[in-house]
Amino acid sequence: MKDVQRLLKKKIPTPETGIEIRKSICTICDPRTQCGLDLYIKDGKIIKVEGSEENPYSKGTLCSKGAATRQYVYNEDRLKTPLKRTGPRGAGKFEQISWNEALETIAAGFNDIKNECGPESVAFYSGYAKYFRPYLKRLAHSFGSPNYISESSVCYQATALSQKLVFGRPGGPDLANTNCLLVWSSNPFYTNPGDARAILKGKERGMKLIVVDPRETPTTAHADIHLQVRPGTDGALALSMAYVIINEKLYDQDFTSNHTYGFEEYKEYVQLFTPEKGEELTGAPADKIRAAARMYASFKPAAILPSASSVVHHTNGVQNYRAIFSLVGLTGNYDIIGGNYVKTPSFLHRAAFIRTREHEFVQPKSWDDMPPRIGADRFPVWVDVIDEEGQAMQLPYHIRSGEPYPIKAVIGFGLNYRMWPDSKGMLDSLNKLDFFVNVDIFMTETCKYADIVLPTCTSVELSELRCYDLGYIIYTQPAIPPLYDSRPAADIIYGLANKLGLDDSLFKAGYEAGIDWILEPSGITLTELKKHPSGMFTPKPQQLPEKKYLKTGFKTPSGKMEFKSKIIEKYEGRPGFEALPVYKPPKFSKEAAPELAKEYPFILNTGSRLPMFIHTRTYRLTWTSSLRPNFPSVDINSEDALRLGIKQDDVIRISTPKDAIEVKANLTQMIQPGIIHMYHGHPNADVNLLFEGDYFDPLSGYPGFKAALCKVEKVSER
Ligand code: SF4
Repeated sequence: MKDVQRLLKKKIPTPETGIEIRKSICTICDPRTQCGLDLYIKDGKIIKVEGSEENPYSKGTLCSKGAATRQYVYNEDRLKTPLKRTGPRGAGKFEQISWNEALETIAAGFNDIKNECGPESVAFYSGYAKYFRPYLKRLAHSFGSPNYISESSVCYQATALSQKLVFGRPGGPDLANTNCLLVWSSNPFYTNPGDARAILKGKERGMKLIVVDPRETPTTAHADIHLQVRPGTDGALALSMAYVIINEKLYDQDFTSNHTYGFEEYKEYVQLFTPEKGEELTGAPADKIRAAARMYASFKPAAILPSASSVVHHTNGVQNYRAIFSLVGLTGNYDIIGGNYVKTPSFLHRAAFIRTREHEFVQPKSWDDMPPRIGADRFPVWVDVIDEEGQAMQLPYHIRSGEPYPIKAVIGFGLNYRMWPDSKGMLDSLNKLDFFVNVDIFMTETCKYADIVLPTCTSVELSELRCYDLGYIIYTQPAIPPLYDSRPAADIIYGLANKLGLDDSLFKAGYEAGIDWILEPSGITLTELKKHPSGMFTPKPQQLPEKKYLKTGFKTPSGKMEFKSKIIEKYEGRPGFEALPVYKPPKFSKEAAPELAKEYPFILNTGSRLPMFIHTRTYRLTWTSSLRPNFPSVDINSEDALRLGIKQDDVIRISTPKDAIEVKANLTQMIQPGIIHMYHGHPNADVNLLFEGDYFDPLSGYPGFKAALCKVEKVSER
């Protein structure tokens, strides 16, 4: 008996203790990581969480967010039952309703709108988590609406858009085999532990590391060369590196002669960007620009690790990224082992080296058979290149203008209005809807404005299919049943499809049958996957040769890598639609708006990550928030703070012409003088209030979150 007590105290899994380990994955941050979890279960409750050694990506590790899984799962803010609003929007007054009533009310509301205005007047939005996206997009299209939209409209899609404009098919960095890694404005030590481990391993085997980042970060600490630029000047830096590579004849002449379009015009254009000019435009010293260009072009194979969103959160983001990705072609590092190597995604953007029918599943209707997507009128390049979705950043405009057709209802899965620039404007727009449904794990502020709120559950309470770029695949099983009366997001989607009366055989067949249908070309079945609760390596991985373009050409209009974009060329004449990757400073910068800069002298840079937070998802957890007790706070360089008489934790006001917020000052040397950095999404200091809704990149529609102008005033001592 004593022994059992001892084992129980140590949480040892044995038949006597009744403790067992169940496998799952963490998707608090999502989707490249999806770290493996070992969950210790006793009497149906998770009593301990560890990283799963069997998971080949995370190899037994968890970050501080994943380690806080129990606080995430058992959080007191969890939504418990479906709710129907009884008070004014925002008041948080709801009554409990049954799932049947909730789904029938939603289905009746959506079908009424479809009959009156057309199916396009209902938008289907996905925030986090991401496993259910294929099913949600199918639901939208099967209903007849082109308006599947997601948070990717402000995250990775514009990076993909930039790469697709240059190469047709994006190539990811082959971290395991590269001899020189150019990390462009990304800090994997805070955002992607697997990439961070690969960088450390690479350094051990002698890999060169160049990092471009306006800030000092753990990644820049490992760099051979850190190019510390001013926010939004990345394009000028890339063009300046190209100047060195071209003029010192370090480029791949065979590749540029035989496989590219527009090289001569690009070559002529980069002559404007000597390293000295590069220094003037970016702030990075000319000798470092030269050294970085030589290193990147000489240590082959070399790869560029792009960020999902840092470079594209600028009013010149896509052009900047086109200039950056042009370096990959210029040096012949496209689609080679150790370079930016092209893998075919298997499911949810990850390549398990298997062929699936994901695309046929998510796109049951052709775009041509539906009205134009949200954002199609303003962002034609998006529509030409991005197959996945409408441009979600345009949702508030579309709701307010009713043009080219009205949007009357939105169902959001994890919709957070604070993600939009002019977040208050987004909230006002949601309040104009006839019908707003939000599905979430927690009672969020956005949920308080919904007409119906549906409780969903965490990754450990459901089954989901995930692929890893390592040729690994998992179909998880619930470690515990969904808590309270919550349901997995996929169950909600399938339930709604049923109530909507959709004539869709795959929805009728059910969730698991749908996954088997998607997996069918791979020869892998769910029955097989269920025998491997912690996942399995792909039995017969597809072989993907290097330089696939030699056989197939590039998936661009010219069939070549395009220094000069034929897609953008179609729209030339519109401001920002230059076919070459032309550099312009951010719209609100000292260079582009000198008068404004007199009153607002600081560069406002927002939205970087901290290791314990991912957007707003872990702000509510006491374990993670205790790691940053003075949060929310704004980073200000210590020299600027001294000059303005600001001390640590004093309250300061950050203002733009749009609005102002008051927040505690965090004095640091990690950012350069003249720059203010603020984390995003905090309800007590929402920095997105400071941005105009139309402060965006004309090609992608992405907000310029990472470079605007602001002023700083001290409000009070701490
Ligand atoms: S939150 Fe942390 S543990 Fe969870 S998937 Fe992301 S990196 Fe892994």
